[in-house]
Amino acid sequence: MRNTRSTQLLTELSQPGRRAVVLPKCDVPETPLSELLPADALADNPPALPELAEPEVVRHYTNLSTLNMSVDTHYYPLGSCTMKYNPKRNERLASLPGIVDLHPYQPEDSLQGMLQLLFELQDFLTEISGLPAVSLQPAAGAHGEWTALMAAAAYFRSIGQESRKLVLSPDSSHGTNPASAQMAGFTAVTVRTVDGAVDMDDLRSKLNDQVAVFMITNPSTLGLFETQMAEIADAVHAAGGLIYLDGANMNAVLGISRPGDIGADMMHYNPHKTFSGPHGGGGPGAGPICVAEKLGPFLPSPIVVKAGDKYRLDYDRPNSIGRVRTFFGNVGVLVRAYCYILSYGPDGLKAVSENAVLNANYLLSKVKHFMPVPHGTRCMHEFVASAAKLKQEKGVTAMDVAKRLLDYGYHAPTVYFPLTVPEAMMIEPTETESKEMLDAFVETLFRITEESADLLHEAPHTTPISRPNEVAAARQPCLRAVCN
Ligand SMILES: *Cc1c(COP(=O)(O)O)cnc(C)c1O
Repeated sequence: MRNTRSTQLLTELSQPGRRAVVLPKCDVPETPLSELLPADALADNPPALPELAEPEVVRHYTNLSTLNMSVDTHYYPLGSCTMKYNPKRNERLASLPGIVDLHPYQPEDSLQGMLQLLFELQDFLTEISGLPAVSLQPAAGAHGEWTALMAAAAYFRSIGQESRKLVLSPDSSHGTNPASAQMAGFTAVTVRTVDGAVDMDDLRSKLNDQVAVFMITNPSTLGLFETQMAEIADAVHAAGGLIYLDGANMNAVLGISRPGDIGADMMHYNPHKTFSGPHGGGGPGAGPICVAEKLGPFLPSPIVVKAGDKYRLDYDRPNSIGRVRTFFGNVGVLVRAYCYILSYGPDGLKAVSENAVLNANYLLSKVKHFMPVPHGTRCMHEFVASAAKLKQEKGVTAMDVAKRLLDYGYHAPTVYFPLTVPEAMMIEPTETESKEMLDAFVETLFRITEESADLLHEAPHTTPISRPNEVAAARQPCLRAVCN
């Protein structure tokens, strides 16, 4: 039972001979293609293009464009992704001709405005993080992790400790953490957590002179703040290691807790999460990193510096690991982050985080009555509920609930992550949702838990495609109505 708009999209509309445009008769002598092109460059048959009138084409694409869920059309509580509203003002500012018409090969003298913006953004990011050195180049959070780890490797080489090859991270960490460690040439080692907190005994037993970095996501993907940071930092530093703080969840702590103040030596931001850059569909994002003074010389080249009243790009960085991205990084996202930070200011950013945490706790306090939240009675920006009881009682899984939410016009929460919670549903409301929206969402979630298992197993019922094979959809995407 798909809806009618979806059915239309799956129907073949092409009719032989139908046209959107009728061109006037050619009034110059026509040269046959065979005289213009070599025979082997010519196709045997013309391509089988759809034949349609203009309104049909426009309707097709307009309808297609409304099938996706987006922050501008739906509530989007996708945990760990901070899908908050993207203020349109930032879009407008980032599209000003003075910004979009720049070419990165222009002489520095003619790029002073952009360089000033990037320089000031570097400053903002170091202030918010409490870490003094910065690179805006990485193109995504995971890329930032990898870049900082490459800088850490260069640092250890510079002090004759290239034998440090291990990167530890808790079992609750984001999957990109161990992946970045492996990509940067380290070996990833897992540290246990107990009820969402690092197991200090397990951490201590794994610290030795082979350990380069301890990577921790704080607040964690369970939405919990790791309160043992000082103890962790002391232990890791005493063993000669560095601390990497995955800052993807900075939306919970802006102006409240600075990674540099709680022992971190390196961190990345996800401006497309925390600073409201639009994201989804794979990008583009950005992953600026901030690091401690001693790691600064190893950051990618160039960085923006100010000499007198001029801004310029500093390439004179002999210890730099080099470039990790063309030009200055994904500048469009950085411009939006700059506008966002500047328009909120220090007090506004703190209020953003306070409201993000308030909204998450409000939802948690309601959801836990019908869907247990195994870790924590309070949370930061998000929490992880478990549909394990539903599964046990009536065979309904987190996936069933997530899919059914689509029928009610909500994007699903993140499911089956983190792996430490069975039938996990990770819910991140963000600060940009109203109390009415949160109430409506909880009511819907509750209603779904009361629905029949049969109905839920078949959900969603209103989308053109119900349950695609997600791996195949990513690896062998079929972008046509009818695929082989
Ligand atoms: C989103 C996220 C990342 C990865 O960021 P990308 O920009 O998607 O590469 C890393 N860690 C955590 C905790 C995240 O939520």
